[in-house]
Amino acid sequence: MIPFVDLKAQYLSIKDEVNAAIQGVLDRCEFTLGSEVAAFEKEFAAYCQAEHGIGVNTGTSALHLALLAAGVGPGDEVITVPFTFVATVSAIDYTGARPVFVDIDPRTFTMDVNAVEAAITPRTKAIIPVHLYGQPVDMDPLLEIARKHGLIVIEDACQAHGAEYKGRRAGSMGDMGCFSFYPGKNLGAYGEGGMVVTNHPEFTRTIRMLRDWGAEKKYHHVLKGYNFRLEGIQGAVLRVKLKYLDGWTEARRAAAARYDSLMAGSSVPTPFARADVRHVYHLYAIRTRHRQAWQEALLAQGIQTGIHYPTPVHLLPAFADLGYQPGQFPHSEQAASEVLSLPMFPELTAAQCDQVAQAVLALAEPVAGAPANTALAGAI
Ligand SMILES: *Cc1c(COP(=O)(O)O)cnc(C)c1O
Repeated sequence: MIPFVDLKAQYLSIKDEVNAAIQGVLDRCEFTLGSEVAAFEKEFAAYCQAEHGIGVNTGTSALHLALLAAGVGPGDEVITVPFTFVATVSAIDYTGARPVFVDIDPRTFTMDVNAVEAAITPRTKAIIPVHLYGQPVDMDPLLEIARKHGLIVIEDACQAHGAEYKGRRAGSMGDMGCFSFYPGKNLGAYGEGGMVVTNHPEFTRTIRMLRDWGAEKKYHHVLKGYNFRLEGIQGAVLRVKLKYLDGWTEARRAAAARYDSLMAGSSVPTPFARADVRHVYHLYAIRTRHRQAWQEALLAQGIQTGIHYPTPVHLLPAFADLGYQPGQFPHSEQAASEVLSLPMFPELTAAQCDQVAQAVLALAEPVAGAPANTALAGAI
């Protein structure tokens, strides 16, 4: 059995250290915010090459509060992509603003920055590029467009802890960067967690207040805020895990490189990584037009896979009110129908990679000139 992710293996590798850190929080009764969260905010912001970090309860809340700090509200428009996890779009919706979509670049699965300018209207306030699967968006041209039109850029870096674009860390390039510490993310809490990182003291001040009932000091509520605080235990766990993140990322990259080379020259479209990025492979997604058959065949061999994501947000029932139709974002729609995420986690062994790649190659159509795979033709 090769699982899609293995959180247990990672926990066992750091068990004593994590348990001691949790015990420390219990001993000090610092259950929400507190010294571990404050230390983690500093350490994670520095890791992201940003000046400030504000810990919150989820990645969704990080996006929501970053938008509010940017002044986004009813009547405004925020540009993002439909090929993302629904939370990116929900966060826009929470503010009362309208999500406006642009399609993805089919090679990278991330925002087609060339499509952004045509989507800007007088109501546009912000852009949310999503560093999907752990690969940064082509940020330089996007930042240039944002500067030209006076728009705020909020990076959805929820899948991109430690990813780099031309040597700059994900989360540090726009006005604010948002991270999730959901357990399955590259840096995962033992519960929920999130953070906004930024170089702007004003955004920092506003988000610090908004996450804690809009209070400037206790019971002095200057903003209509929320209870979006990060728990003390999560801060302690994340501080321990941050020390290991680069090693884990290199293990992901090694597994991805192994998959790449095993499937090179085959008919399987493997992920394209831009030459100017450090892709952190939160997910390793191939494409296939026979996804369901492949997923079932792999599972029958004990190989778990995932689909991220089966429906682009503009076609989800929850966002039907936006009025988008099928066919409006063809690259997103095609990606949603073809992507298949292979097992990817730092503890994945070379032998497991080999087994997965061999199973995929056995399903794949032969490249032109090679003998036909008749077994598969029967299965689909
Ligand atoms: C996980 C994720 C989020 C939301 O993070 P939560 O911590 O689950 O709220 C937002 N955007 C993307 C791209 C994500 O992968």
